[in-house]
Amino acid sequence: MTVNRQILLASRPTGWPTEANFKLVESPLPRPGENQVLVRSHFLSLDPYMRARMDAVKSYAKSVEVGEVMVGGAVGEVIESKSPKLAKGDFVVGPLGWQEFAAADAAAVMKVDTKLAPPSVYLGTLGMPGVTAWVGLIDICQPKTGETVVVSAASGAVGSVVGQLAKSHGCRAVGIAGGAMNCEYVVKELGFDACIDYKAGNLHHDLKDATPNGVDVYFENVGGETLDAVLTRMNPFARIAVCGLISQYNASDPYGVKNLRSVLVNRVKMQGFIVSDRMELWPRALNDLGTLFAQGKLKYRETVAEGLASAPAAFLGMLRGENFGKQVVRLV
Ligand code: NDP
Repeated sequence: MTVNRQILLASRPTGWPTEANFKLVESPLPRPGENQVLVRSHFLSLDPYMRARMDAVKSYAKSVEVGEVMVGGAVGEVIESKSPKLAKGDFVVGPLGWQEFAAADAAAVMKVDTKLAPPSVYLGTLGMPGVTAWVGLIDICQPKTGETVVVSAASGAVGSVVGQLAKSHGCRAVGIAGGAMNCEYVVKELGFDACIDYKAGNLHHDLKDATPNGVDVYFENVGGETLDAVLTRMNPFARIAVCGLISQYNASDPYGVKNLRSVLVNRVKMQGFIVSDRMELWPRALNDLGTLFAQGKLKYRETVAEGLASAPAAFLGMLRGENFGKQVVRLV
């Protein structure tokens, strides 16, 4: 093993990205420095936030520069260690990028327990998306038993955990997802009480049917018309966690929300958040999620693309909603 294959940002997209915005290159295998480890990644995570990093606009995180390795979380095996904290053979998760090998600071990666869950799960349910669900639902929205919790992109990495956490808190969990197959999975496998297919064209009507007691908590993953529809169902003192706006990430003419009046008259608390700002909550969140996972109460599905070269196409497919559950790329 002397060669590292990497995927670089080749150019910035305008609107929808294409495979031409990425470039596969070979470079020498990196060497770990003091307090670093050399990691061979087994699975790379593909997440919606990466789309924003391809743009040069000012945001909460630094953009990827053209010619740099694409940012991304990965889980893999330590194959050489120059840190007393990690040993050869340990599995770690961290921001290792779209590449097969990475030399990383030991402090920047986290050791994972592959006896509790397969490595890829630490990119989804027991990783950043799972913690995102926990922070938005438990910390920001503070659901109470008997309340109705609605979540969009419900079959995805974040949404699937939101609904299952809501159920474990005694709430009515209602998902919004695209297509009959996604909705069937959300109800039958993940155990939500109901799921609305936003692609069926009856969003307002179906939402009313699925939320007879109104909505106390909305976990927002998509934005646009979906947010407007849910705003019509808000109960007094409802809470909204704004986690993501995936329907708007490639929009050249973003949708303007119309029903803000509902926020006023219902005294709704609406808060955006970025999971990496809340590092102090990660241990508690991972502990709760790990306990539920061990009890079989956190189900998940993955869409697995094969090999680093497939990452750009899989990423574009995920942005179009072609993934089923957490999108990862198998590298080993
Ligand atoms: P998913 O695995 O759920 O993949 C994205 C899903 O979004 C698709 O599968 C698709 O589901 C849905 N989707 C795509 N386009 C649209 C559209 N136009 N309208 C409605 N739904 C659409 O992604 P994640 O679970 O990883 O992420 C969910 C959200 O959380 C994203 O917005 C992401 O940016 C955000 N996020 C925010 C974080 C934070 O710190 N604030 C951290 C992590 C994620 P379907 O097929 O059902 O339409």
